[in-house]
Amino acid sequence: MQPIAMKTPLVEMDGDEMTRILWKMIKDELILPYVDLKSEYYDLGLPHRDETKDQVTVDAAEAIKKYGVGVKCATITPNAQRMDEYKLHGMWKSPNATIRAILDGTVFRAPILVKGIHPLVPGWKKPITIARHAYGDVYKASEMAVPAGCRAELVITAPDGTKKCQEIFSFQGEGIVQGMHNTDSSIESFARACFNYALSVKQDLWFSTKDTISKIYDHHFKDIFQDIYDREYKTRFEAAGIEYFYTLIDDAVARVIRSEGGFVWACKNYDGDVMSDMLATAFGSLAMMTSILVSPEGNYEYEAAHGTVTRHYYKHLKGEETSTNSVATLFAWTGALRKRGELDGLPELEKFADNLEAATIETIEAGVLTGDLYILSDVPGKQKVNSEDFLKAVRERLDKKYA
Ligand code: NAD
Repeated sequence: MQPIAMKTPLVEMDGDEMTRILWKMIKDELILPYVDLKSEYYDLGLPHRDETKDQVTVDAAEAIKKYGVGVKCATITPNAQRMDEYKLHGMWKSPNATIRAILDGTVFRAPILVKGIHPLVPGWKKPITIARHAYGDVYKASEMAVPAGCRAELVITAPDGTKKCQEIFSFQGEGIVQGMHNTDSSIESFARACFNYALSVKQDLWFSTKDTISKIYDHHFKDIFQDIYDREYKTRFEAAGIEYFYTLIDDAVARVIRSEGGFVWACKNYDGDVMSDMLATAFGSLAMMTSILVSPEGNYEYEAAHGTVTRHYYKHLKGEETSTNSVATLFAWTGALRKRGELDGLPELEKFADNLEAATIETIEAGVLTGDLYILSDVPGKQKVNSEDFLKAVRERLDKKYA
């Protein structure tokens, strides 16, 4: 076939370890033979981030703002052990945190459901999408260790220099203290992103915080959501036959477990981080989850929800065979290409993304599986394949669609 042409470049962000290996395999086997790929490439692999003093991460985020759509490979967030391993010049911040801070917005994570793999919660019949606020709270907090005998205070200083002060705690012994923030404009765009997303998929929207304990901070989130809903979305939700409701996070957790799925669950930054990993595992595997960052300006970043699969990478380095699941990374590519197609008016590119996703799901449902799914699937005659052979099996099915 004639490779499908693109108009606007996709911001391509390469990453680390096993996912970097998968990234190249996916491109070589499943993208480049079909698409005349136009991408602006940023190497966010740790060695290059270190060489550029992490400037490359900032440049990539700015490029997403310029072009509108990016696709990102999983990356290492350095810690003390990585400092040694990679002889780093600095303990660079998490690239995801840097990109989210620049783009702001909301991360939507949804499981990819396939026949043969059953959620651990038997009642779940439909996907549950987590909408995670991607700005502020503990991810932008200031923290201090407090020596014994100190008093910690919360102080805000007005532009004219007047101060408002409140005691946090008077420490007898040693302790710790943390200050965090959010902004009305970020919470408002989080709310609108969630309402728009729920309308686009015609699913109910749930929102939960701990407002009974956090009577100002969390309560403010609740009020902003309710106010925007009443003023801007209520009539559209009613017309679409869907519902918005707020509930305490404890109640939400219980309801989620008892539900049959099929709704969007909006969570504050930390809650969304934790709950999306819990949902991914309960739906089957971290590698069967899509993750999209939607910014208030309408920029999109597609990624896998999992990390760089270090354990498999060390095996790969020793020349051993790996059976790493590439589905989430593959769906990051299809999501980004489909969005590019949609924005640039390229139906063939959108169709390609649909075909590639369908070929992937058909492969899994036929029982051709990487190790993580092999132990979960109940497809008769299932077979475990290595990372490369899984992609080849997808290619066979994709080729048939274009034959
Ligand atoms: P991980 O997601 O790489 O692995 C967690 C567990 O899930 C491991 O047991 C792993 O074998 C399994 N797993 C994850 N993805 C898999 C896949 N595609 N196929 C098969 N099994 C899979 O997380 P981790 O071990 O906590 O972190 C490894 C590295 O990844 C760290 O350096 C961390 O900083 C980074 N990380 C990056 C991101 C990101 O860029 N989005 C997210 C989380 C962690």
